[in-house]
This record gives sequence, C-alpha cells and structure tokens, in this order.
Amino acid sequence: MEKTELLYEGKAKKIWKTSDTNLLISEFKDDLTAFNGGLKSSEEGKGALNNKISTELFKLLNEKGVQTHFVEMLDDNHMLHKACEVILIEVIVRNIATGSLSKNLGIEHGTVLPFTLVEFDYKNDALGDPKLNDQHCLILNLVKNEDELYEIRRMARKINDILKPYFFEKGLKLVDFKLEFGRDKNGAIILIDEISPDNCRFWDIESGESLDKDRFRQGKGGLKVAYENVLNRILG
Ligand code: 5GP
Repeated sequence: MEKTELLYEGKAKKIWKTSDTNLLISEFKDDLTAFNGGLKSSEEGKGALNNKISTELFKLLNEKGVQTHFVEMLDDNHMLHKACEVILIEVIVRNIATGSLSKNLGIEHGTVLPFTLVEFDYKNDALGDPKLNDQHCLILNLVKNEDELYEIRRMARKINDILKPYFFEKGLKLVDFKLEFGRDKNGAIILIDEISPDNCRFWDIESGESLDKDRFRQGKGGLKVAYENVLNRILG
C-alpha cells in the first residue's frame, strides 16, 4: 500500500491517504514537542521506535479483544491503519498521581490512586486541551450520546487492565497514558492514534527512572535510550 495525498500533519505524525478510502498510513516523525508546542526538538530514530512499540501494543490489544485501527506496520516509520472519524477527546488514564493531576489538584507526586482515574481533555491546541466533563462532551457534540461516553470509558479501563500487568511483568509501572478513539465505518468506537512513550509514563520499578517523554519535558536527556529500553522489554 502506497501513500498518495497528505491528509493531515500533526506534531508527531503525518497522516497520508492511500488508494483505498478505508485505509490511511501514519508516518511517525522524529519531532518532539511538549507544553502544547512550547518546547520543540527532534531525536533521530524516535519515530521508528514509537511505530514499533505501538505496533506491538496494538497487536496485544487486538489479541485481547480490543478493537483498534491497526492493520500492519509497513516499514520503520509507517503504519497502515483503518480510516475513521476521529473523536476529539484525549482520554487520560491514571494509576499514579503525577503531572497535571498533581499540579492541578495537589495530589502528591507518586501517590498510588485508590482506583483507575479516567479523565477527558478537549483535543484542541488553540484552547490548550482543557478538561472536559460528560456534559461538555455532549454540548460540544464530541460524542453522539451518553452510550459513546460509556463505551470510551469501558474501553479505556479494559486497555489499562491489559497493559498495567503486562508492563509490571516487564519491570515497568504504567503511571498514566493518553488514548484517542474514533468511529469506524460501522460507527463502532475503536482505539486509534498510537500507544508509545510519547503519550505514556513508564517508571522503572527498581530505580523509579522515567522511560518516557518526561525525559524531554524535564530536560533530562537519554530519551532514545529510554524508548529503546521500553521496546526491548516489550520484545522481551
Ligand atoms: P498530564 O495531564 O499529566 O500532562 O499527562 C497525562 C498523561 O497523558 C501522560 O502520560 C502524557 O504523556 C499524556 N498526555 C496528555 N496530554 C497529551 C498530549 O497532548 N500529547 C501526548 N503525546 N500525550 C499527552
């Protein structure tokens, strides 16, 4: 399958049309951004690592009955996936408090949450991705009805129930992560985008070290080695 026309360029990926209107190609870029584009850089090989990590995780989730847009990895930087109607909600799943949760609500960094927290952010750069509640989602027509919200939350929790023990066995705490969903041609909610250290926080169980984009956000360096470490643990 070949790329034809550029459909959309985001911060971390380009999305290409193909000759099949039901299929798109994501090109994973080496660009790094944080703080809503306020911090920018690039790391050679980052895109390929995220493509490989996402491929393995989408395959795992598909095997466990989670519907995703994934079709196949085409080469180092390209993934073939289903075309769908994107739902403009960033679904944040949290097991341990850190980041914006600690900052906004004063919950101490590292606090294990009593249950899995699922939050919604509006996927809107111009507004700085503000928090949404269910009524906001309905008023903004981001979802068609409450059933879609229920399904998104159900899937987000199921994905966490699969990935949290999976990473724990590999010596990593899955602290939090961001998911995106879309509607396929039949209107079913499916997981889209990517699952990678760009949108997850992983802490090494032994050392507590971050193996994710926080290395860039916090100017720590060693980002590529950290992402390679995550991929190697997945490939085990
Ligand atoms: P926080 O809200 O604490 O900044 O982020 C929570 C989790 O969601 C982190 O794992 C973070 O990587 C991810 N996340 C939140 N917003 C975004 C976003 O706009 N882009 C990406 N790539 N990840 C995000």
